[in-house]
Amino acid sequence: MKESRKLTNFFIPTLKEDPKEAEIPSHKLMVRSGMIRKLASGIYEFLPLGWKVVKKVENIIRQEMNAIDGQEIVMSALQPKSLWDESDRWEKYGPELIQLKDRKDRRFCLGPTHEEVITHLVSTDVNSYKQLPLTLYQFQMKFRDEIRPRFGVMRAREFYMKDSYSFDKDEDGCRKSYQKHVEAYRKIFSGCGLKYREVEAATGNIGGHYSHEFMVTAETGEDEIVLCENKDCKSKYSSNTEKAEYRRDPSRAPSKKSKEKPAELKKTHTPGVRTVEEVSEFLNEPPEKFIKTLIYNSKKGPVVALIRGDHELNENHLRDCAKVDDIELADKETIKEVTGAPPGFAGPAGIKKDSIYKIFADKALKDIKNAVSGANKKDYHLKNINYGRDYKIDESNFVNLRKVIKGDLCPYCSKPLTFKKGIEVGHTFLLGTKYSKSMGAHYTGPDGIQKEIIMGCYGIGVTRVVAAAIEQCHDKNGIIWPDSIAPFEIMLIELSDESNIINEICNDIYGRLSKTYEVLWDNRDESPGVKFKDAQLIGIPVEVVVGRNFIKEGKLEIQFRKSSRKIFTEPEKLTEVIENEKNI
Ligand code: ATP
Ligand code: MG
Repeated sequence: MKESRKLTNFFIPTLKEDPKEAEIPSHKLMVRSGMIRKLASGIYEFLPLGWKVVKKVENIIRQEMNAIDGQEIVMSALQPKSLWDESDRWEKYGPELIQLKDRKDRRFCLGPTHEEVITHLVSTDVNSYKQLPLTLYQFQMKFRDEIRPRFGVMRAREFYMKDSYSFDKDEDGCRKSYQKHVEAYRKIFSGCGLKYREVEAATGNIGGHYSHEFMVTAETGEDEIVLCENKDCKSKYSSNTEKAEYRRDPSRAPSKKSKEKPAELKKTHTPGVRTVEEVSEFLNEPPEKFIKTLIYNSKKGPVVALIRGDHELNENHLRDCAKVDDIELADKETIKEVTGAPPGFAGPAGIKKDSIYKIFADKALKDIKNAVSGANKKDYHLKNINYGRDYKIDESNFVNLRKVIKGDLCPYCSKPLTFKKGIEVGHTFLLGTKYSKSMGAHYTGPDGIQKEIIMGCYGIGVTRVVAAAIEQCHDKNGIIWPDSIAPFEIMLIELSDESNIINEICNDIYGRLSKTYEVLWDNRDESPGVKFKDAQLIGIPVEVVVGRNFIKEGKLEIQFRKSSRKIFTEPEKLTEVIENEKNI
């Protein structure tokens, strides 16, 4: 339904100044344009203008979810702990989970996501292959006690999400459901007027086999992505840097023929100095000369990763190489068992190989001559440690362990990868049987055999989409809404005069336009300056100004927010001009 409003009757408390804590344009503009207000850290209220945009995005999503046969439901935000115990995620989810108790001391959380609740629902009410495939979705507030809520609704502790879940008889069916979602997401994000990229992603807390993220490209994005922009490369490779594969540029590796001769291995006293930075300063050696030794726990036993001091470990690569489901940094006891020393002094020479499951080294280590590493002894490090002479690792265990860095090459075409910042607006996961197995979601096939249901889950941060759209579409004066998600289509600006003529004209135009368009009529008793400023700030695509020009020449001024184009026209031609401009 088209909804038009008069500003005197619309709660839109605009502000002249940016809120102090706002760091990025979307946060500043959403507060200043009266879309949102902060209640507490990471918790926001949506006011009429803001909620109207959220609803526009919601409707675009709903349409595409329905088009792939999704059925809308609403689940409870309050979730009993018992369900999270079944999936073994209550502890694993960590401090982001907001926990509470009822009056009878039963424990609950405020849902950060709904895999547990939906799997419970489906395990109870779906029994037969005849009920599959099934896709259910909902729109709901999610709660996550983010470690660093910031950027307004972009990283909030309470935020609005569309989450959908697919249930299939087999892997093949699940892949089809996954693909349908990916295609629906493409329509949704381009339908919202966003420039986005689809990238391979890590599965993280949700788990499962593989996953993609939809990233709105923007300088202020918190994620970093890599892309292959070589037009001749068929791969169109793109990935979150958390996950990215790469090929090393051989021309950038320090020459293997480096003249540096292996020097004598020295055990050096480094009392209380543990991190690469500290030891680097203490010994006056650059971090790239260091071997960082990281020890992880896995279900199969400790896994050790060796990487260069100035590089970052890609935990996903380590997990994949070790073929383990989950890894987490080892505790003090494990470190002591593996190295014989407290944390901070681990190194590859003299690690107790029979106490670990596997050891891997990043390929870059082979190029370091006379490296520095921990000595596996409290308060000692080794200088001049060299591969081959002082420590050995199977050739096949030299792998790509570090995260992708600038200068790395596309794994398919070997041309340099491009780095970009992105805002993650959507995420798709192929879960497989992760939840159906632990929570007993089965169906009986036509042959009477019981099988586990294969699941996928798919999220869109609806409120984050709104913020991301503003990040991509704004200028120094305010928001420039893409047409499809603009809160109104036309802003009618009345510049009042002593007589009543302009008001009468506006009344007439408002009546006519609001039959086909959503119009916001600025009928306030304010100066033209205030009205123009607010119009620019709110960013409605078309402004129709009725002022002195009308009295003098009988013409209205139409201004388009995106192109700043101004057109003067008679009232009769108004809709024609607006429609023409839309098609440009
Ligand atoms: P992030 O890496 O940004 O924390 P996530 O991987 O935890 O995201 P999912 O669990 O996949 O996110 O949630 C689905 C979608 O919900 C995300 O793609 C994102 O658009 C949105 N989202 C996640 N966390 C927040 C948040 N704190 N505030 C607003 N939106 C969020
Ligand atoms: Mg998160």
